[in-house]
Amino acid sequence: MSGNTDARPKLGISSCLLGNEVRYDGGHKHNRYVTQTLGKYFDFVPFCPEVAIGLPTPRSPIRLVGEGDAIRVLGTDDASLDYTEKLKSYGNRVAASLDDYCGYIVKKDSPSCGMERVKVYQEKKEAPPVRRGSGMYTSAVMESRPELPVEEEGRLMDPGLRENFVIRVFTLFRWRCVVQEGLTPRSLVEFHTRHKFLLLAHHEATYRQLGPLVAKAGIGDLDALANEYIVTLMQGLCHVATPGKQANVLMHIMGFIKNRMTDEDKTEMLDLIEMHQSGLVPVIVPITLMNHFLRRYPHEYIDKQYFLEPHPRELMLRNHI
Ligand code: SF4
Repeated sequence: MSGNTDARPKLGISSCLLGNEVRYDGGHKHNRYVTQTLGKYFDFVPFCPEVAIGLPTPRSPIRLVGEGDAIRVLGTDDASLDYTEKLKSYGNRVAASLDDYCGYIVKKDSPSCGMERVKVYQEKKEAPPVRRGSGMYTSAVMESRPELPVEEEGRLMDPGLRENFVIRVFTLFRWRCVVQEGLTPRSLVEFHTRHKFLLLAHHEATYRQLGPLVAKAGIGDLDALANEYIVTLMQGLCHVATPGKQANVLMHIMGFIKNRMTDEDKTEMLDLIEMHQSGLVPVIVPITLMNHFLRRYPHEYIDKQYFLEPHPRELMLRNHI
């Protein structure tokens, strides 16, 4: 990743979403947004856990069965076939190989790959399933990799969740680049400094938590601190940035240049921030104006903030939120 300007974030993905015919029925679940839009910016590496543990294609379906924490993956037609341990252990093996990955897109509803709200069937056949499970493989990956952004292809159709996921992917990508170049207390502080306003727009409590942590860089074990830092940061960014929080950050930013802005500039900026808060314009509108003012009134600290452009503008993710 380092030193190579062509480097792109590497993401794991459920193989069937790329159009590979690996599903139990011999089909696929090709997702065009993923391949045709996100595929321009990300390198995808496909995983099909069910095929990887030795199941054929096509195959008999499997499903989550159980109650409480005792959920297992069993054959739908033959409940004596139990794939729980194989899927978990494959998930742990894959997780251990994801050091340079920046995200993972999984297939919703799958008893192996789903992230949430997967149907869990009760032992008693007549009881209806409840949507409260996670795919066995994906649970293992997420547990071992708490820093990794994971999202379902279905949830990516929601503009807010999509933008949030892509922000997390690019943040982790920038982090992986810094780590690959050799993390130092100074590079950790600089990384944090440049992400401050982005984090503030997502979760103020994490923003307040990370300041004192980063202040300890240079004292003690840097690797342990860096690990705690990135996991905490990535979990903080899971909180979606609301219009109110975005407005708060824009006001903070304006505070740094307001002495150089004319009264007319300020009125124009405040009007657009308010219009965004009222839901009249997407966040890209006040951010574009803020970037315009920052070109006119440059500010070294603010110009470096990733909040202003956390992902490629061509993805147009902020045009819809
Ligand atoms: S959802 Fe997962 S296990 Fe099922 S076919 Fe797709 S990649 Fe394979």
